[in-house]
Amino acid sequence: MSFDKLGLSLELLKAVAKQGYTTPTPIQEQAIPHVLSGSDMLASAQTGTGKTASFTLPILHILSKNEIKGRRQPRALILTPTRELAAQVSNNLRSYAQFTKLRSTVIFGGVNQNPQVRALQQGQDIVIATPGRLLDLYNQRHLSLKSISMFVLDEADRMLDMGFLGDIKKIISLMPPQRQNLMFSATFSGEIKKLTKDILNQPVTVDVSPPNSTVESISQMGYRVDKSKKRDLLLKLINDQNWNQALVFCRTKHGANNLSERIEKEGITSVAIHGNKSQGARTKALADFKRNKVRILVATDIAARGLDIPLLPHVVNFDLPNISEDYVHRIGRTGRAGADGVAISFVSPDENNYLRGIERLIDFTLPLEEIEGFYTPRKPSKKAIARGEGKSGSKSTGSGKNPSRSGHKGKASSTTTSETNSKARKPKKRWY
Ligand code: AMP
Repeated sequence: MSFDKLGLSLELLKAVAKQGYTTPTPIQEQAIPHVLSGSDMLASAQTGTGKTASFTLPILHILSKNEIKGRRQPRALILTPTRELAAQVSNNLRSYAQFTKLRSTVIFGGVNQNPQVRALQQGQDIVIATPGRLLDLYNQRHLSLKSISMFVLDEADRMLDMGFLGDIKKIISLMPPQRQNLMFSATFSGEIKKLTKDILNQPVTVDVSPPNSTVESISQMGYRVDKSKKRDLLLKLINDQNWNQALVFCRTKHGANNLSERIEKEGITSVAIHGNKSQGARTKALADFKRNKVRILVATDIAARGLDIPLLPHVVNFDLPNISEDYVHRIGRTGRAGADGVAISFVSPDENNYLRGIERLIDFTLPLEEIEGFYTPRKPSKKAIARGEGKSGSKSTGSGKNPSRSGHKGKASSTTTSETNSKARKPKKRWY
């Protein structure tokens, strides 16, 4: 299928061609006609699938067709959980809107509000915002939401994880009830389903990446490693495999800082991004990473949410996430727009429970390897022996077959001691 079959205006087709896109991605092919027809929509799509264009293009189309005379009031509102994602959506939207007369602006916290206020005073058609600063500016009467006719809740699952439910409800109460609503989420908890009922009116459902699945082009594997050896293992992999770019996830801000400093000490360029860094520092770190001025970006989950870094070859879970859904989000940073990527997880003995939670969620047993000198196998506990685990001279990796799963498709954990250039394996078929 080509873009011109989707019913988008010539101005938008020209902008899409200028981006170098030749064919719509599956989410674009499915979502754009629904949005153009005016339906509410619930879409299950991760970052990396082309989801931003799937809502920004039809919004631009619809708003261009209904030009407003007089002072511009925002007619479309796109809410995102993080500043980075807001900035990214805004950049994409601007490039798609370049041949239209529509104006858009982005609003997020952590920076001086004055330029944002000035932009609003000039009149805007589309506002992309994080909830906190939006409400802040609303309360100061710098914008009105009375003319909003299209509303997008992007990465709704993360919004809830970040505690934005109250803000979202407040924002919804400020918009006219008659509007088109689009909601995107990569995972679907009970809470998300409830929010869907509150916000969406007879939505069509678009499901390009069914709930809790991971992108197929990503190879996933892990290393059993002692907690104290994780840094050395990371440095060994970077050096031995000559990684030129990797995004490394840590659980804490402090951990991210320490790790980044240690990497720098080895003469490898690295920078950490997390919630305590100023917006300026976060933006610069990301720009330097994208320009290959920095090889290793160390990030916490919140800072890295929704980052669009094309062709990222390696994502490392230095610490396993304690929220299983974060695993899906993290590894979505690689293998984007069809490119191959490798997601590597470091699993220390205290993280076995997290590993089991993740494996249950994605319904796939992560192949695990050990590198000599980096992992000291534990003696199986009496309980484990009683359960029949820890046999066969047991170099048990502890992530053997997940008992909660039947008909499992992936390979059970490898217990071989292997060299670092061993290839990560791809699941043979989709596993949701
Ligand atoms: P998103 O999921 O919206 O973050 O998009 C992921 C990446 O895919 C971005 O870098 C987009 O520029 C790119 N992209 C979006 N649509 C297409 C398309 N139809 N063809 C190729 N790349 C695309």
